[in-house]
Amino acid sequence: MRLILLGPPGAGKGTQAVNIVKKYSIPHISTGDMFRKNIKEGTDLGIKAKEYMDKGLLVPDDLVVAIVKDRLTEKDCQKGFLLDGFPRTVNQADALDAELTSLDYELDYVINIDVSKEELVDRAVGRRVCKDCGATYHVKFNPSKVEKICDVCGGELIQRKDDTVETVTKRIEVYLEQTQPLIDYYGKKEILINIDGKQDIDKVFQDIVIALGRE
Ligand code: ADP
Ligand code: AMP
Repeated sequence: MRLILLGPPGAGKGTQAVNIVKKYSIPHISTGDMFRKNIKEGTDLGIKAKEYMDKGLLVPDDLVVAIVKDRLTEKDCQKGFLLDGFPRTVNQADALDAELTSLDYELDYVINIDVSKEELVDRAVGRRVCKDCGATYHVKFNPSKVEKICDVCGGELIQRKDDTVETVTKRIEVYLEQTQPLIDYYGKKEILINIDGKQDIDKVFQDIVIALGRE
């Protein structure tokens, strides 16, 4: 299965990705996670990306496309993949198309998770992530069993630097301007699945599985 997860920041892409990759045994490719790893490791890419991420802006297309291209040529992607948070611009989508053609891969579906703007801010601002394993929680909607401690690995839960009201608002604005056009882009290719992301986490996943099974 070759999939893309599309949706505004805070829609629940990362949360659903964990379940989707487990069910379909495919690698999870999150460009946001890749950049955060590079920032943690202090690489040149991380230093460059941080400048944009901290402001709620998109990292330039050439940097993003290069890391995704590299990743897609790895062997584990032969069995399929889930792209999470990529593409985010029409330029990136065109570059992905070209890369997939050269690898002789075809996309199966683009899953678009739809959530209202008001809810997105609440979701992102209440998000907590494990410093060690990256597992995602929400202080109200999906709390860890023990406050500030990861259920999976016992690591400390922290708030992402770009999850303030101000930065999230900017990221939503950027999404509406630069990423939302991809709904039409993939709609025209007739591979778009729209999912109501306002339901609880398990129901959203159930709807995704049903849609993938039926399509
Ligand atoms: P994205 O990857 O799209 O930015 P996340 O998966 O990190 O979004 O989810 C953002 C926040 O919202 C997290 O704190 C997560 O626990 C919470 N969340 C995800 N899905 C739901 C849902 N269906 N209902 C309520 N909260 C959710
Ligand atoms: P995410 O983890 O998907 O919320 O992404 C966090 C931040 O990483 C975004 O706000 C961008 O600054 C950057 N980023 C992640 N993916 C992309 C992408 N495909 N294009 C440009 N910037 C990206």
